[in-house]
Amino acid sequence: MTTDLRNRIARAMAKAAGSKAFREPGTEWNHLRSVWLGHADAALAAIQDQFVPPPPGSTEEQMPDDILALIDPPPYLSTACETAQLLEQAVAEHPERQAGLGEWARRMHARCRTNNKYTGRLCDCGHHGETADA
Ligand SMILES: [Zn+2]
Ligand SMILES: [Zn+2]
Repeated sequence: MTTDLRNRIARAMAKAAGSKAFREPGTEWNHLRSVWLGHADAALAAIQDQFVPPPPGSTEEQMPDDILALIDPPPYLSTACETAQLLEQAVAEHPERQAGLGEWARRMHARCRTNNKYTGRLCDCGHHGETADA
């Protein structure tokens, strides 16, 4: 996906600059293509932090307290823990895949960001209480 994005940025930059690097098929353009790809890498590096979601527990995107006081958010189950629970339920139907399903469920629980990033409401998954040592 990043490779695709890198290519798209390089092509867009070359096009905007009026370069034929990606329009001409010849290998003599390879050097110029790699130059544009290098520019794309620099552009991606400059905006890298925009793609990183806030870490679990972060309140960066949380609503202000006075606004939160006006709403009553419903119980929150993170998508990670929701998926983990689906995986655990699937064991009943596919007992032969128990090991794989269990491993993925464990990973998904571990990826839970714990708090709803907008409301700060904590994930209701029972898994969090029992594995405080994890
Ligand atoms: Zn969980
Ligand atoms: Zn959770």
